[in-house]
Amino acid sequence: MAAYTFPRSVQELANGGKRALVRVDFNVPLENGRVTDDTRIRAALPTLKLLRERGFALVLVSHLGRPKGEVDPNLSMKPVGEQLSELLDCEVQQAPAVIGPEVESMAGELGPGDVLLLENVRFEPGETENDPGLADSLARLADVYVDDAFGAAHRAHASTEGVAHRLPAYAGLLLEREVRELTKLVESPRRPLVVVLGGAKVSDKVGVIDRFLELADRILIGGAMCFSFFRAQGSPTGDSLVEEEGVKPAEEALRRARDSDCELDLPTDLVLGRELDADTEVKAAEGVVVPAGWMGLDIGPATARAYAEAIGAAGTVLWNGPMGAFELPPFAAGTRAVAEAVAAAPGATVVGGGDSVAALQEFGLAEKVDWLSTGGGASLELLEGKKLPGVEALNDA
Ligand code: ADP
Ligand code: MG
Repeated sequence: MAAYTFPRSVQELANGGKRALVRVDFNVPLENGRVTDDTRIRAALPTLKLLRERGFALVLVSHLGRPKGEVDPNLSMKPVGEQLSELLDCEVQQAPAVIGPEVESMAGELGPGDVLLLENVRFEPGETENDPGLADSLARLADVYVDDAFGAAHRAHASTEGVAHRLPAYAGLLLEREVRELTKLVESPRRPLVVVLGGAKVSDKVGVIDRFLELADRILIGGAMCFSFFRAQGSPTGDSLVEEEGVKPAEEALRRARDSDCELDLPTDLVLGRELDADTEVKAAEGVVVPAGWMGLDIGPATARAYAEAIGAAGTVLWNGPMGAFELPPFAAGTRAVAEAVAAAPGATVVGGGDSVAALQEFGLAEKVDWLSTGGGASLELLEGKKLPGVEALNDA
């Protein structure tokens, strides 16, 4: 397997007096014009602070939500700028648009350490089309480009890919760490490498299953995903959430696992509920049989113990996707057991996936994991062995 090539780091940038266009991932949740979770803004601070300390003026660009190439005042970056201003403890100027003469003159007047936040880059239809004109206009705003938006690196858009070919380009600290941690996991993991996969959709994660059937020592399956496997094995799944498109890939994975050195484990017991509801009737399954009128909503206690033991014995653990409908207390035990085992594991631990990270945070265990990937789709694609256009463009620059 070809080793992943690493982009130049922002740490290599000498003290500047220049302007840096920084692609950040400020795609944060908003409520009534306020940022309700600023984790992603905080994640970019080390890069922004480093550049300011080195005398750069910053022009920041991000997307927010899906405005589909039109101006949507509800998706303005304004609340983000206000939050950033507090976190950086400095003024953040808000550009009235993404590009254009007014924005260019604002950028031109920036002094060392000044910060200008562009409007939501997806107000421009050229963003998702990777339009060369938009990339040119963005490049005119600065002397160097720094990409710290790992979560957007799997998309070839004007602000992630296009502009990287037009300016000297560098990886920000967050993007660099994401690439390093995830690459280490696939290229040189301490063994045994144990991968725990759950969540709702097999089809999102089938590429990751395929890759780790070659790389990992054990794959432990939980979550609704296991029902595509049980369906493939002809085991009754009752009213469980079964992703139909996932059944064929699950069958294929089971077949490949037979010829692989990697062990693929499915749950051996389950917790059942009548409905997806916290007050529903709950019972233990006989083995993994889900009768009609019931849904499998969590892995059972024997499975949770076995998975926790495997996690404890691992040299490296990757966890992506909750083991059950953990948002509902009667079905949270499996996810909690896995989260606790990952938190206590002596090996290296990496957790990705929005809901898995949310579960860890809810259990107060997020600090105990070595690396929480912010990437979502980008992390999965990198783990699958796909090249990320945003990262590749930095290498070519
Ligand atoms: P992540 O964001 O960590 O990658 P996913 O988005 O793939 O995870 O899946 C998370 C969702 O899967 C959660 O909302 C959880 O309630 C749901 N889920 C997990 N197991 C089950 C199940 N057995 N039945 C129904 N929903 C489930
Ligand atoms: Mg999710």
